[in-house]
Amino acid sequence: MSKFFSKKFDGLVPYVAGEQPKDNKYIKLNTNESPFSLSENAIEFAKSALLKTNLYPDPDCRDLHKEIASMLGISPDEVMATNGSDEILNFAFMAFCDKENPAVFPNITYGFYKVFAQINGVPYKEIPLKDDFTIDVNDYIGINKNIFIANPNAPTGIALSVLEIEKIVASNPDNLVVIDEAYVDFGGESCVPLIKKYDNLLVTQTFSKSRSMAGARLGFGAACPALIADLINIKYSTNPYNVNSITAALGIGVLKDEETTQKNCSEIMKNREYTASELKKLGFYVTNSSTNFLFAKSDKIGGQKLYEELKKRGILVRHFSTKEIADYNRITIGSKDQMGALIKTIKEIFG
Ligand code: PMP
Repeated sequence: MSKFFSKKFDGLVPYVAGEQPKDNKYIKLNTNESPFSLSENAIEFAKSALLKTNLYPDPDCRDLHKEIASMLGISPDEVMATNGSDEILNFAFMAFCDKENPAVFPNITYGFYKVFAQINGVPYKEIPLKDDFTIDVNDYIGINKNIFIANPNAPTGIALSVLEIEKIVASNPDNLVVIDEAYVDFGGESCVPLIKKYDNLLVTQTFSKSRSMAGARLGFGAACPALIADLINIKYSTNPYNVNSITAALGIGVLKDEETTQKNCSEIMKNREYTASELKKLGFYVTNSSTNFLFAKSDKIGGQKLYEELKKRGILVRHFSTKEIADYNRITIGSKDQMGALIKTIKEIFG
């Protein structure tokens, strides 16, 4: 650290991103990416954007917002696109949280919420999950703080119903509720329709998982126009060109080819059920996942050890050392072949 690093960042613990090895030799099941590359249709649609990189992108993302809004059945002034959904989550902390408006989120959830709270000087409280890793809705009823919930949650994969989320939103009318739906396309139920009814709800989604765009960085928020206007205010005060023109065009191209997205999601869900059942046959405990990953542990081998043994054999999964979940690994669902290789390798490790 240099002597110039601001004291306000004392104690800041940055988010630890999953490994992204440079050599291509691993079967990568560690960062919940899609195993499918973009469709030719989507790429073809974005080609013209490559010839216009001499110009700044449209800072209002008008075409993209129109396309996202139409996919969600809402209006364009209820949408804001960002550089990955991480950015809109950070914007939400910047726009709506402070010392008088602290944040709460589950103790086991997406690790970035804590980092965003820290970097924005927002006090926060982590609410323990139940022993079965589910969220106790009652913990959030009338809590009177800004709430951040990943639904389905990560890394557990477990989802709350829209009805349960609505109870939380309705009981905290003077606080913001952010529902992070990064994984909603793999069998979860979206809360987006609720933004018409509640002015304190922000729903975020990403193109990184179901839409094969992790590398292009595209996410968005959906909320009532007043909340979106606040977020736009923050965007124009930090980086008006947060979504580059190539990414915006790819996003539109992907949305115009929704059939491919649906096909890919069905394939992932099929592979998830196959993998879960094979892991259970091998004696694993697997949480009930509505995402593109499984969260699994075995009595035969510790979480860290399984991660290491798989890595030695060319398969990367994600292990978290947090004590409550140290026995588990989070395994991204890839192609049928990749999941077959995973099961075969675990059988080898078990001898
Ligand atoms: N929310 C959750 C729960 C996630 O797991 C991730 C992916 N790391 C994100 C948000 C952010 O994804 P992205 O910035 O790629 O949209």
